[in-house]
Amino acid sequence: MLNKSHFNLSKKGAGSTQLTLFGTGPASPIPRIYCQCRVCTDARKDGSRSRRSRSSALLRVDGKQILFDASPDVLRQLERFKTYQVDALFLTHAHSDAVGGLFDLDDILRKQKHPATLYVEEGTWRRLRLILEDTKPWMTIQKITAGHALKVFGLEVMPFRVEHSAQPGFPTLGYRIGDKLVYASDIKSVPQAAERFIAGAEHAVLDGCFWFDTHFPTHFTLDETIALADRLRVKKLYLTQISHNYPPYPEAARVVAEYCRKQNLTAKVAIAYDGMTIPL
Ligand SMILES: [Zn+2]
Ligand SMILES: [Zn+2]
Repeated sequence: MLNKSHFNLSKKGAGSTQLTLFGTGPASPIPRIYCQCRVCTDARKDGSRSRRSRSSALLRVDGKQILFDASPDVLRQLERFKTYQVDALFLTHAHSDAVGGLFDLDDILRKQKHPATLYVEEGTWRRLRLILEDTKPWMTIQKITAGHALKVFGLEVMPFRVEHSAQPGFPTLGYRIGDKLVYASDIKSVPQAAERFIAGAEHAVLDGCFWFDTHFPTHFTLDETIALADRLRVKKLYLTQISHNYPPYPEAARVVAEYCRKQNLTAKVAIAYDGMTIPL
């Protein structure tokens, strides 16, 4: 497991680069409102790391803020971290847990008085534009393509293809950001051609949705994620998109640490939680 200092919220200033995991949960936040399972019960306690809002992340670079996905929880996530600035947005895909908060951002974007750039691939934009196109003057649209890098605030961002949806042709992206970081929150498989964008990452935040011995058509189980990260020589893996079929956080962290020790992995593995910050 990583040293505790890797998990602390950074106190560095505006010039620093860091990724804050706003949400680390699945499409339905935890606790699920009807559920009395061990995890959802634990998640109702104050400060529980089993409590998870929907997955998204905020990258801070030289005073600019880049949001990866706008989950339906985005306003509460921004409020939690007392930050009300979004300069750019990247989307992984057009499922509601990744884009449902786009429509709520207008209040913040109007207040900051400069538009944010939404970087979006054509197939995702086609699914969103009827709702967004005419109503969101505060958002500038820039198209991106998997496998073609772009520069954003001096940082190279490489979108790469991952498979996630059971619906054929439903596009999903992961991102390599600079030379250290990978963010891909929704994965069932990674095409071989895209593996090189994950390979050797110092920090990789990857879909590890389901606990051992669970098979689901649209997400990794954590042993699949761990095996991929180890094979691709990722240095630090952060499992995200965590469902309530994990045990409560402290127990899950112990079991994963023991599993990794027995596997003699080169990658260090942590289960992410809402609010975890990764200094870069
Ligand atoms: Zn539950
Ligand atoms: Zn999805």
